[in-house]
Amino acid sequence: MSSRSSTDTGPRAARPRQILLLGGTTEAAALEPLLDGHPRLYATVSLAGRTRRPAPSRLPRRTGGFGGAEGLAAWLHEHAVDALVDATHPFARQISANAVTAARNTGIPLARLTRPSWEAGPEDRWIRVPDLAAAARALPELGRRVLLTTGRQHLEAFEAAPELDYVIRTIDPPEPPPALPRVTWIHARGPFTAEDEARLLRENTIDVLVTKDSGGDATAAKLQAARERGMPVVMVERPPDAPGVPRFHAPQAVLGWLEDLPDAHG
Ligand code: NAP
Repeated sequence: MSSRSSTDTGPRAARPRQILLLGGTTEAAALEPLLDGHPRLYATVSLAGRTRRPAPSRLPRRTGGFGGAEGLAAWLHEHAVDALVDATHPFARQISANAVTAARNTGIPLARLTRPSWEAGPEDRWIRVPDLAAAARALPELGRRVLLTTGRQHLEAFEAAPELDYVIRTIDPPEPPPALPRVTWIHARGPFTAEDEARLLRENTIDVLVTKDSGGDATAAKLQAARERGMPVVMVERPPDAPGVPRFHAPQAVLGWLEDLPDAHG
């Protein structure tokens, strides 16, 4: 549990602002220590509950879905939340959409904390596509042996290109697995080194890599290995940002936003 302190405990002290942090990411974990023990902010972290042993935290936690945007709005209301921070993964579309709807319907301020997108350098050969279906359509012209690192969800999109040889790396096995005739499965969790990734590409004679634009350092080594191999990368672009939601890359900047919210919300 969190240790809370306050420098303003007199009878006229304002109650700490109640913050709900939608977490489960490195970014949320980086914000947590800035909120822990803050004299004016009292944060609860929300996890989807997918990870069996989530990293320890000093902040109070709740776990599991809210029941859609309406359930989230009800939770915000019930817990008198003053501000919502969405620090979920860039590809966690549903919870981010729910956060936008719930914030709009309750009038509670919402901010987004997300890692920057990856950027292609002059030697990169990236083909940007909007989704996995478009990635599958792009593949046959790019090569025969494919490394897929897009996570275990929605792999059925690649059933549109069943003639290719796939190496699919996921943390946990997908259920059900996609109906593809030639798959080599690798179950592994990053971070990976550039040497590991280069070996993986070499030993599996990979022609093309498919990845989501997750950003961050933990899984960026595969991009370096692809660049060094002169290999094309099919880059699945992020869902668009919600208009009107302030977006930050630095946890310190979100802290500043929370501290500066007008008193109507504090
Ligand atoms: P999603 O499709 O956007 O979310 C599906 C449902 O899971 C949401 O509608 C919500 O249920 C619940 N949920 C998701 N995040 C939650 C949270 N932080 N607290 C409470 N409920 C949450 O998300 P996903 O892609 O399955 O990812 C699930 C979680 O894993 C996210 O928190 C995300 O940050 C993390 N993650 C995702 C990825 C990825 O590539 N997608 C990668 C790494 C980590 P209700 O509608 O019932 O509220």
